[in-house]
Amino acid sequence: MECTVGAIWDERYLAYDFGDHPLNPVRLDLTIRLARELGVLEHVDITAPEPASTDQLESIHDRAYLDAVRQASGEPGFVGFGLGTTDDPVFRGMYDAAALVAGGSAQAALRLHRGEVQHAINIAGGLHHAMRGNASGFCIFNDVVLGIRTLLDQGVARVAYVDIDVHHGDGVQAAFYDDPRVLTISLHQDPRTLFPGTGMPSETGVGDAVGSAVNVALPPGTDDAGWLRAFRAVVPGAVRAFAPEVLVSQCGCDTHHEDPLANLELTVDGQRAAIADMHALAHEVTGGRWLAFGGGGYGLVRCVPRTWTHLLAEATGRPVDPATAVPSGWTGYVRSLGARGELPTAMGERPLPDVHPWEPGDAESSSWLDSAIGATRRASFPLLGLDPDDPRD
Ligand SMILES: [Zn+2]
Ligand SMILES: [Zn+2]
Repeated sequence: MECTVGAIWDERYLAYDFGDHPLNPVRLDLTIRLARELGVLEHVDITAPEPASTDQLESIHDRAYLDAVRQASGEPGFVGFGLGTTDDPVFRGMYDAAALVAGGSAQAALRLHRGEVQHAINIAGGLHHAMRGNASGFCIFNDVVLGIRTLLDQGVARVAYVDIDVHHGDGVQAAFYDDPRVLTISLHQDPRTLFPGTGMPSETGVGDAVGSAVNVALPPGTDDAGWLRAFRAVVPGAVRAFAPEVLVSQCGCDTHHEDPLANLELTVDGQRAAIADMHALAHEVTGGRWLAFGGGGYGLVRCVPRTWTHLLAEATGRPVDPATAVPSGWTGYVRSLGARGELPTAMGERPLPDVHPWEPGDAESSSWLDSAIGATRRASFPLLGLDPDDPRD
């Protein structure tokens, strides 16, 4: 199946740059160059981002925080509101750079809503940790929240958000924790072992939104087979039950086995499979309406460019075979930047293992992974009208 895809991109995104910091914007440059070399962008309609307006940002952040970001942008010594920290150091032009990313996600949402494209992608987006009143976890403005808010403001009644970043999607969950129109699902490394320390299965929403937050806390070391087993035991059932009009995905790829900040063990191939599952789910449940963002990912050369090239290619309906050679033009460019170490030679790493479906009773087994899956199903499935013990749900 061939699909129409719009991506929001231009090189001004590279200004979102904390300097000597894990979130290096070179990962976006390398992604776009790899996708272009492979011909993927020939099937993607690219539009340049426009910065989010003050009104748009005030719909998702406190005015005092926006003022602080504005002030910090011209004052390198600024400290406060989560800014001026190791995670979120201040840099010149920070406000404009973050507003451009947020604006891009709003634009992607609008392009999708108007029906201009079936799938809309902002790889610079996915800054899911930013809170209403403070910066957090490399995230200044929460472009994901603005993207979803934009859909709701356009009259979309129900949105399902699936966050596959290795870290809990806490800022997005917090923004919609009391909003029954938005189902947030996050699969992440167990928060007892990783930032931001939230995202246990017991977090399910409040008030009339109880059941609208779903959390899967995965053991450190979870690999492709285990991760996909958990995803398939929770996500499709929950999304189908919620019956959203749009599926929104945060495609952080810091679940990779070489990622320097976390401890899951996925390959590019496992991440590609997760993306393909979400694409298929959108066609099944939302008539194909799929809004996708980037997110974390600190394997700047060996992980992010390949995984998000697969995201773009998968969305067009022309997936790139994992056996495809990495083009020498791309490798030469990476070397010209002074990259040391082994560069990837193929678009995949190794064949995907068999994924054993979750079965009832597994939750009682001694495996941390199966207990984790069982805990999420027991906490969330009854609230969605599903049977936690029925493998068909
Ligand atoms: Zn499609
Ligand atoms: Zn992350």
